[in-house]
Amino acid sequence: MSSIAQLHTSTFSIQDLELKLKQVRLAHPEQSLPSPPSDSGSSSPQECQPEESYFLRSLKECLTIYEEPSRPRSESLLLLSDEEVIMLANNGNIATYALEKLFGMDQLERAVRIRRALISRGSSTGTLESSSIPFENYDYSRVLGACCENVVGYIPIPLGVAGPLTVDGKQYPIPMATAEALNAGGGVTTVLVGDGMTRGPAIDFPSAIRAGKAKAWIDSDEGHEILREAFESTSRFAKLKSLKTAIAGRTLYVRFATTTGDAMGMNMISKGTERALEAMQKRFPEMVVLALSGNYCTDKKPAAINWIEGRGKSVVAEAVVPGHVVKTVLKTTVKDLCNLNVKKNLMGSAMAGSIGGFNAHAANILTAIFLATGQDPAQNVESSMCMTLMEPTGPDGEDLLVSVTMPCIEVGTVGGGTVLAPQQGVLDMLGVRGAHPQQPGQNAQTLARIIASAVLAGELSLLSALAAGHLIKAHMAHNRSQANTPAASVPATPGAGLAYRV
Ligand code: ADP
Repeated sequence: MSSIAQLHTSTFSIQDLELKLKQVRLAHPEQSLPSPPSDSGSSSPQECQPEESYFLRSLKECLTIYEEPSRPRSESLLLLSDEEVIMLANNGNIATYALEKLFGMDQLERAVRIRRALISRGSSTGTLESSSIPFENYDYSRVLGACCENVVGYIPIPLGVAGPLTVDGKQYPIPMATAEALNAGGGVTTVLVGDGMTRGPAIDFPSAIRAGKAKAWIDSDEGHEILREAFESTSRFAKLKSLKTAIAGRTLYVRFATTTGDAMGMNMISKGTERALEAMQKRFPEMVVLALSGNYCTDKKPAAINWIEGRGKSVVAEAVVPGHVVKTVLKTTVKDLCNLNVKKNLMGSAMAGSIGGFNAHAANILTAIFLATGQDPAQNVESSMCMTLMEPTGPDGEDLLVSVTMPCIEVGTVGGGTVLAPQQGVLDMLGVRGAHPQQPGQNAQTLARIIASAVLAGELSLLSALAAGHLIKAHMAHNRSQANTPAASVPATPGAGLAYRV
């Protein structure tokens, strides 16, 4: 047997030894330092010795214990210390990615701890093992095979809640939003104008003519029906809504759009699309499916097709803010807000050639809620597409009509990161956790409505702050006592309007 110092150092310093001991202590928080079992394998890691008597067995001894055929690997691993498992992994006997599978469900945290050590010691910085990234006391059984691979811990994110915001007559606690002004006008009303997750495979044909024939077939009632039947056979929640086809050269793209119940739906639609393409292959044996996702979907990339056709939940959220609230709470005017919205969110974004970016900061609010509720944060690319509109309303145009139009809110309340306990806590708080008991899909749709409403509050908040800031600047630039302080943004065109009082 070799002591750690002997094993690892031909030339070692006291610091090296201390570091090694620290690593071992970190690897065994529950048991000071373990002693190795006897060759018969009768001892367990629970039977530990004082620190001074810590030993690493040789690779050969460890391998003999690990590969003992009379017991399962998970039991053999219990007879090895963390450092010994690390040694086997470094020697190629244990795959780092398979630690959880080898250790079994009741040793998941140990698998994570060992992976941290392996990755840390193999990295140039070597910090992970002793870093402040937490890994203890987490329910890894929900993670395994569901939402993360090669787990080394978890990242806690501060969670704040504002509101409550009234959405469609119900009050919801909303993270980060200007709820007060919106509630004053009766709250936010939402309209769900579409619900369909999409997948767009790329399919090669020998020639453009053959691709064209396949396109015509898909567009025909017969082709549509065959594909629909195959697609829907894969899930009781997947109902095919549309098939949109496009050709480039000899490559055919088909955009499958489907409802997915309360799931965000990427897994579900991928399964359905695969089955539908199998049915199509029978009709067109020469076709070659290049990729189930041919980027005609379009998932997690900016694309006009999403902005135009919608993806996931398409929602409009609208509210009226009474004029006196605009003045007293938002500290601006309807006219200034509308002017700013046109110049910034509409014209400015048009000047920048934006696709779906006709808003101030929809992504801030949406991504915060995505993270808190276990959504796929990479889908914020298209989910944050938003057009913010503002116009005067009411008999004298004194009130503000404000809306956000968001065609691609991709959310679910089952599957993915929604299976994690803290994320489920947030979904519970919003009353939308899991599958809706009566109407599959309604929980996910409600979540999309809540997100759009929160985005609306965020838009109002930022634009008001900008408009109010502008007014304050105008105020400071001119004499406070001056009656009609001209606002800097009033056009010089004759008859274009009066200056504001600030
Ligand atoms: P995604 O398709 O978003 O990637 P998952 O495949 O992780 O999601 O989760 C969807 C799974 O949940 C499917 O197997 C589906 O059968 C099941 N499920 C149970 N209830 C529902 C529901 N109300 N809506 C959608 N899926 C549901």
